[in-house]
Amino acid sequence: MATEPPSAPHHPDLVGLGRTALGAELAAFGAEPFRARQLWHWIYHRGATDFAAMTSLSRAFREELAAHYVLSRPAVSSELASVDGTRKWLLRFADGQEVETVYIPEEDRGTLCVSSQVGCTLSCTFCHTGTQRLVRNLTAAEILAQIMIARDHLGEWPSPRTDRQVTNIVLMGMGEPLFNYDNVAEALKIVMDPEGLAISRRKITLSTAGVVPAIRRCGAEIGVNLAVSLHAVRDDVRDRLVPLNRKYPIAELLDACRNYPGASNARRITFEYVMLKGINDSPTDARELVRLLAGIPAKVNLIPFNPWPGAPYECSSEAAIAAFSDIVFAAGYSAPVRTPRGRDILAACGQLKSASVRQHKRESAPLSAA
Ligand code: SAH
Repeated sequence: MATEPPSAPHHPDLVGLGRTALGAELAAFGAEPFRARQLWHWIYHRGATDFAAMTSLSRAFREELAAHYVLSRPAVSSELASVDGTRKWLLRFADGQEVETVYIPEEDRGTLCVSSQVGCTLSCTFCHTGTQRLVRNLTAAEILAQIMIARDHLGEWPSPRTDRQVTNIVLMGMGEPLFNYDNVAEALKIVMDPEGLAISRRKITLSTAGVVPAIRRCGAEIGVNLAVSLHAVRDDVRDRLVPLNRKYPIAELLDACRNYPGASNARRITFEYVMLKGINDSPTDARELVRLLAGIPAKVNLIPFNPWPGAPYECSSEAAIAAFSDIVFAAGYSAPVRTPRGRDILAACGQLKSASVRQHKRESAPLSAA
């Protein structure tokens, strides 16, 4: 790059390249095609961050690679662990922008919640990220890096076939993944490759506020599970909670769900529903929800609202949530109430990076585990 001094040559990063790009890069470097397969294995199956570790390559080739490329990870500016086992990493990218990734261990699975954008454009009124502006889309490499970092910190290399810690991935962190479709798709392609991180599309769920035109594409091209942030059963209410509803109202959104490629009773669409006191939590709302979901292979995830300072809503009472859940359950849908996890480290839904943004505004010390 012209702006860089000659003493700091720019070494391209091989981490984050897909099969085609890695093959092209190495071909341009003069390496034979099987080298790309070897590097793929080291980078995505073994998690190598150092060419010297790649013992199946000759020393001379390793040295040549090291002179021209890097295998990098974004900086981890803080790492927090909750009393409930939830872990959160705040990653800082080369331009100083930060996102959070959260690991949620449960008895039968371990879920990694990944961000797709820095900030968000949606302005959902109950979501704290909605009060932050969109700064930028994450690159495919930055989306992928969140999973690589979690694997690094959990000591999960080489990619285990069984007894994994990260079994599931949800694109439910900051941002709207379907507004960053190309980069999300590219990152997930690498994540799903059976000779690398090897996380199956059946274990990956993409959550959207309802970007209708991209929903079909997501099912047909990426083939992951779909979660939809529904949150209301009437357009006037949803218009207020999820302003994107003014563009893609409930009927259109549910049509897209009805036609979601790959959805079946064995692979249901998750409808997320945040429980807001007096707004969307009445038995009438629950019955309307059941009516709307007719004909869609659906399950419902009831999320107790996570309050944040200045939020214009309150969480529904436990009794209201239980009554709502009972109605949905009686209609034949699974309707678990999601237990808030990692509240003590601000890792819960809608809270990601809020504390970091506040701290930067105050120009105080970075987050620490203290
Ligand atoms: N933009 C995507 C993914 C990010 S939000 C989407 O809208 O689905 C991930 C989930 O957290 C969404 O269901 C969102 O509605 C929910 N959420 C956001 N803020 C919340 C809060 N304060 N309490 C509970 N759930 C919240």
